Amino acid sequence: MISGELITAIAMTEPGAGSDLQGVRTTAKKDGNHYVISGSKTYITNGQNADLIIVVAKTEPDKGAKGTSLILVEAGTEGFARGRNLDKIGQHSADTSELFFNEVRVPMTNCLGEENKGFIYLMSQLPQERLGIAIGAQAGAQRAYDEAVAFTKDRKAFGKTVFDFQNTRFTLASLKTELQVGWAHIDWGLKRLMEGKLTAAEASAAKLWHTEMQGRVVDAALQLHGGAGYMNEYPIARMWRDARVQRIYGGTSEIMREVIARTI
Ligand SMILES: Cc1cc2nc3c(=O)[nH]c(=O)nc-3n(C[C@H](O)[C@H](O)[C@H](O)COP(=O)(O)OP(=O)(O)OC[C@H]3O[C@@H](n4cnc5c(N)ncnc54)[C@H](O)[C@@H]3O)c2cc1C
Repeated sequence: MISGELITAIAMTEPGAGSDLQGVRTTAKKDGNHYVISGSKTYITNGQNADLIIVVAKTEPDKGAKGTSLILVEAGTEGFARGRNLDKIGQHSADTSELFFNEVRVPMTNCLGEENKGFIYLMSQLPQERLGIAIGAQAGAQRAYDEAVAFTKDRKAFGKTVFDFQNTRFTLASLKTELQVGWAHIDWGLKRLMEGKLTAAEASAAKLWHTEMQGRVVDAALQLHGGAGYMNEYPIARMWRDARVQRIYGGTSEIMREVIARTI
């Protein structure tokens, strides 16, 4: 993975289980020294290109989360099939797919870490993943703001630049303020992560705030472009489309609020 020779995917989500990951129905049944994996996954990033898939499966279905394991499946293994490369509204440079597992046999040594600890492994890495999404959101918002500043300083209407209207300058001033607060918060979150102190609720709050902020900023930045903002030839159009999913994947904004609320 590190040298770029192997592309991987992590297959958690299923047609019937997204936010409610404990509802995963894919099973990995033991047969001698092998697992036999059956089930289907959807919305899997890298699904079309992955050489190796980390499959979230129930090794002991009656134990719920405590019976969940992470099993490695090599793409060529018999019974494994890729479905559609799903047609998304944004992030077109990333492939997102259905994956099917029809009695896929893999050796038990393909279990990543210890059996039945898969859910714990996933939960322990979620703060880092969510902070990562927050950082991407902050960077995306900054770039959208920069585009809006450049565009409005160039575009003319009513004999002056669009930037000269008080509405434009006040809108940009508000966005600049959000970005300033956001960068300070990212630094704080990174420091907490490096010190091993970033909690699940703090990481959820970061993902919630930064992705919602990105949504506000890209939308306002697009508006300042006028009709040009709706044209794919302007970078802001793509930024707006690509930003939408940030509030959905890695846990939706509603699930982030759930995680935070549990600590109140
Ligand atoms: C582009 C893209 C890439 C993705 N990549 C991956 C990947 O690589 N691997 C992977 O495993 N998954 C991936 N996903 C899946 C993603 O993580 C899920 O889509 C996401 O977690 C939401 O699950 P869901 O789609 O089943 O929505 P649902 O859980 O069906 O949610 C529907 C609505 O109900 C709300 N809701 C659900 N539960 C509650 C609750 N308890 N309280 C209040 N509201 C609630 C949700 O917030 C949402 O608004 C990807 C998704 C997308 C769109």
